[in-house]
Amino acid sequence: MKKRYVWLVIGLLITLASLIAISQTRATLHQVSEQPQGSVVTEAEMLARLAQGTQVPFTRFVAADWQVPLSGLVNLNHPKAKQAKLVDKNEAIHIFAYHIQHPIQGDYLIDTGVSAQLLDDPAKFGINAILHSLFGFELLNLHQSTQAYLAAAQRPAIKGVFLTHLHLDHISGLPDLALETPIYVGNNEGQSRYWMNVATQHVINSLLKGRPALQQWQGDIVDIFGDGSVFALHMPGHTPGSTAYLVNAQTGPVLVVGDVSHTQWGWDNQVEPGQFTQNQAQNQTSLQQLKSLAAQLQQQYPSSQVMLGHQYSR
Ligand SMILES: [Zn+2]
Repeated sequence: MKKRYVWLVIGLLITLASLIAISQTRATLHQVSEQPQGSVVTEAEMLARLAQGTQVPFTRFVAADWQVPLSGLVNLNHPKAKQAKLVDKNEAIHIFAYHIQHPIQGDYLIDTGVSAQLLDDPAKFGINAILHSLFGFELLNLHQSTQAYLAAAQRPAIKGVFLTHLHLDHISGLPDLALETPIYVGNNEGQSRYWMNVATQHVINSLLKGRPALQQWQGDIVDIFGDGSVFALHMPGHTPGSTAYLVNAQTGPVLVVGDVSHTQWGWDNQVEPGQFTQNQAQNQTSLQQLKSLAAQLQQQYPSSQVMLGHQYSR
């Protein structure tokens, strides 16, 4: 009886230790660099620099059409979602990437789109049949691969990638970019810890294999090139390093919000994402900040645009 009790305690301790280990899984084991890049500015300085700054040609392209559960994209337990009687279903979304053509610094992407190589041979990148179905890859339809987009645009030389965050659907175009391409991501993104990383870490590691250390933005607002053309805004919640980008596009300022808000409904109603988000309360705070920045920009620049994580914005 006593012996059985000892084994029970040992079993419980092993289970507890495993659960703690899982909850502490890093987003990636890939190396990170915290060397400061660009210049850290306040929001007032950002708006002043935006007014005077370098304007850049900017293009969004649709890499793929996809369907994922609405309960991942919108917090269906939020009172507004309940009031609107939203129910879980597959929601049509897109995977976007964004192309900045800086006249002096060269061409940069925000997020990476989708590579046909990844869809043709997912196992090569560590995506087995279980993960394939878990990610819902069978519902993903390639629209234009990153390689095809860059070839059509005749801009093959990408100087760097600014990631909104380190989720698979935002780095799925990496196989189409040269191995030496620098990759920039939000503060504390690479080493952040979360239990769900257990399912994705080895795929992220494999997509980053052979690539430079992730350069992590330092500071809440970074003027990336120091000329008011592109700003990185730390907007934690969806992931700890989630980052929005404000681009001084030739057509007016564009606010790329990333997955702080995936959907039009979530943005309009100020409801944070659902299960896909790591910290909903923090995500809600970031969403409020971006909504208020977007309203301010809209007032000053009527042609300004908001680009949501996975749907077109009206
Ligand atoms: Zn996403």
